[in-house]
Amino acid sequence: FPVDKIRNFSIIAHIDHGKSTLADRLLEMTGAIAKTDKNKQVLDKLQVERERGITVKAQTASLFYSHHGQQYLLNLIDTPGHVDFSYEVSRSISACQGVLLIVDANQGIQAQTVANFYLAFEAQLAIIPVINKIDLRNADPERVESQIEKVFDIPREECIRISAKLGTNVETVLKAVVDRIPPPLACPNDPFKALVFDSCFDHYRGVVTNVALFGGQVKKGDRIVSAHHSKTYEVNELGLLRPDEHPTQRLYAGQVGYIIAGMKDVKEAQIGDTLHLQDQPVEALPGFKPAKAMVFAGMYPMDQSEYPGLRSAIERLTLNDSSVTVQRDSSLALGAGWRLGFLGLLHMEVFNQRLEQEHNASVIVTAPTVPYKAILSSAKLIKEHGSEEITIVNPAQFPDRGVVSEYLEPVVLGTILTPDSYTGKIMSLCLVREARYPGIQAQNVFKETLLFFIFFSSLKSLEFLILHSFDYENAGYQTAELIKMDILLNGNPVEELATVVHRNRAYSTGKSMCERLKDTIPRQMFEIAVQAAIGSKIIARETIKAYRKNVLAKCYGGDITRKMKLLKKQAEGKKKMRLIGRVEVPKDAFINVLKRK
Ligand code: GDP
Ligand code: MG
Repeated sequence: FPVDKIRNFSIIAHIDHGKSTLADRLLEMTGAIAKTDKNKQVLDKLQVERERGITVKAQTASLFYSHHGQQYLLNLIDTPGHVDFSYEVSRSISACQGVLLIVDANQGIQAQTVANFYLAFEAQLAIIPVINKIDLRNADPERVESQIEKVFDIPREECIRISAKLGTNVETVLKAVVDRIPPPLACPNDPFKALVFDSCFDHYRGVVTNVALFGGQVKKGDRIVSAHHSKTYEVNELGLLRPDEHPTQRLYAGQVGYIIAGMKDVKEAQIGDTLHLQDQPVEALPGFKPAKAMVFAGMYPMDQSEYPGLRSAIERLTLNDSSVTVQRDSSLALGAGWRLGFLGLLHMEVFNQRLEQEHNASVIVTAPTVPYKAILSSAKLIKEHGSEEITIVNPAQFPDRGVVSEYLEPVVLGTILTPDSYTGKIMSLCLVREARYPGIQAQNVFKETLLFFIFFSSLKSLEFLILHSFDYENAGYQTAELIKMDILLNGNPVEELATVVHRNRAYSTGKSMCERLKDTIPRQMFEIAVQAAIGSKIIARETIKAYRKNVLAKCYGGDITRKMKLLKKQAEGKKKMRLIGRVEVPKDAFINVLKRK
């Protein structure tokens, strides 16, 4: 395929604005998939993606399209829509020359629209604004076009109005991809040079890398080298993604496709790595910043006998997701397990759901925590750790105030985009969450004013803010008054329920954790005291009353079926319980304990 007939593009949008639906239409119209009612988010392959309606892993598809009497090869690189995965958005963008920026005709520009726009803008990509869902009764494409003009400085005439659901005007989008996005700058006569922009693990064939060819060509049997770690591999298979793998003889400059070359682990296929031929070294492409784990949680098997099974499930899943960090860990209450690091809360939930769904593993996940830092004051400890500053990813190991001169917590720089009528409400929310605002920036857009709030906030508050039009980036660490709070069940501290809290919020958090546990732990044969403590001082207490009646007491006479039903129900309930001391604790109590009512 001649390079000037190739277009590489991504679709970017705020979540739910219609990326996946438009991708389905583009695939149908170019014949990559058949037209049926069943084409719901074809690129969203994972079960979690379908259930949650979010795209987790970027997917790629090569489409053939005729325009001006010429055949074009359009490479669509789908990107995830959630802030937790913005790292994946930037890696996909680096393989493209243009993007379709989708905006919902009813909702207009949202925070992630702005964040994604700047990613594309900074990468100097061609940006095609697409206004979607014009079929909605409340659609107001006029207003959205004005927003796009004001906020992004893109002339309104460039906007394409479509309904991805009905297919209205989608053809215009394909034409614009050909006409407005430049072909890749790649020369077939240069030495082979490819960017690894994604990778996944296949049980039978090893690592499948997704690559964009910046120069030359590659074929089966070629010996290729990773510029990152200088290992050599032989190409076993290569081809296009349409979106299923279509093996071909060769891949050429400008194309996007996959290569299988006997890599055993996704860590060998670093995202951002450059591949070249063994005898033709090239200058490596600029790589990406590695993803940084910002949320940590313990994961434990329901029963220690399930440890080996869970270990291999976690191994298989992390083979496919190099952004998850894994450390072995153990706790008195839950035995041997792991402490895993994730990009964000959603990333953690998705990982957990995939463990349970795809690997049939039953897992106890402990309350998530952010990585705290402490500056040690004890000379002995400094010597032990080899440095003054330590990072704590497990609250159970939070060092005592006595050996620490300062605690630090991570903060984010967040942007909220909102009409000015919400200003007061959001400002008071920020105040409650102890956010500071370095600035409020007004954007006069058509009839309403959109405000950008830029503020710093501790990461814990994110759970709430994610529900709103919100985007964030990490902004380092700040000093905080932190203390460790223990939770005791019948007087015994449960390590895995320990949390780190702000000193001035300890009382209210302790109280709500105890209340929450009282609601989650079922009544048992004896009374259970649930207590929150700071050091040896109890700051909150709830009591779970003993459960007197036997389940079977209700069954008079010999109603066997009813008796069986009750016993079965009780057994099912037990399966999800974990014995801690003498107390049966439901497996989701650990993660739910921090959720607000
Ligand atoms: P994504 O999160 O950006 O991938 O969004 P999806 O493609 O999953 O779409 C989110 C929701 O909007 C789904 O329920 C779609 O059916 C719906 N949707 C997408 N495009 C349109 C459209 O053109 N019109 C209408 N009415 N609904 C749409
Ligand atoms: Mg989607």
